[in-house]
Amino acid sequence: MAEFPPRAFVCGHPIAHSRSPIIHNYWLGELGIEGHYERRDIAPDVFEAFVQEFPRLYVGGNVTIPHKESAWRLVEARDEAAEIIGAVNTLWLDDGRVMGGNTDAYGFAANLDAAAPGWEKSAVATVLGAGGAALAIVHALQSRGVSDIRIVNRTFARAQALADRFRGGSSAHDWPALPELLSDTTLLINTTSLGMHGGPEAAIDLSPLPASATVTDIVYVPIQTPLLASAAARGLRTVDGLGMLLHQAVPGFERWFGVRPEVTPRLREIVMADLETEK
Ligand code: NAP
Repeated sequence: MAEFPPRAFVCGHPIAHSRSPIIHNYWLGELGIEGHYERRDIAPDVFEAFVQEFPRLYVGGNVTIPHKESAWRLVEARDEAAEIIGAVNTLWLDDGRVMGGNTDAYGFAANLDAAAPGWEKSAVATVLGAGGAALAIVHALQSRGVSDIRIVNRTFARAQALADRFRGGSSAHDWPALPELLSDTTLLINTTSLGMHGGPEAAIDLSPLPASATVTDIVYVPIQTPLLASAAARGLRTVDGLGMLLHQAVPGFERWFGVRPEVTPRLREIVMADLETEK
């Protein structure tokens, strides 16, 4: 049985970069809830022991790289999103049982709902990347009824594996097919690490995109990635990746502390100020 006041964690290896403590401790303060959220650096060889032990100290927590797949195997039951995605990013307790969920798909869709309402209507989506984040995003798109999802990846075999996993409505493509795919895309999503601060950019010519298209990037360091900057320069609607990070935190907080928190402009400002320190 966890102690009072309730404590939650984010565990990963490394973990120093995680912004989750800023988000959850802000909500605890704003809502006047006695509790704390902290980072735990847990190496892979002790992760299983941590999952067994955490209920004595914590009400739950988040799981990040490299433990999301191990957490999926170790929990006693999973929510539907985790079941489909094959990775767990949120742990909580239900009558002493360790439960696992995945909130990335929720966070992605909630961010678009807030910034681009109606985005899913007649959407034709092109997804760049086929890694862990793409898995959650293809699930989000499918569960919101998007029936034409084109997955484009440097390593075609991974795009094919992802399309096969989400049969019906998703197809796999090579990078050179992009200009043709973009010509009727209404939602372009970068899920690759291209555009991350200090790394290579996604050098994509956006001119074939229709003027009504929305471009979103889940990379959030920097907040305005080169892809979003070129979309904005073309006058396209853009949605940055910070909102996904903030929204994916909502369901976990609600499970641990019993109140559904809000993603507010003030929270966004606070996390943005912290991200500025990374430049
Ligand atoms: P991942 O599983 O390692 O996948 C990386 C993807 O990027 C793969 O599709 C990979 O292609 C592609 N890629 C990497 N370097 C490339 C290059 N030089 N050229 C073309 N493609 C390249 O990583 P992930 O977990 O999916 O995360 C991807 C990004 O999303 C990270 O930047 C992460 O921080 C961000 N993210 C953001 C949020 C949020 O809340 N906003 C949530 C999750 C992740 P190959 O298959 O060919 O290697």
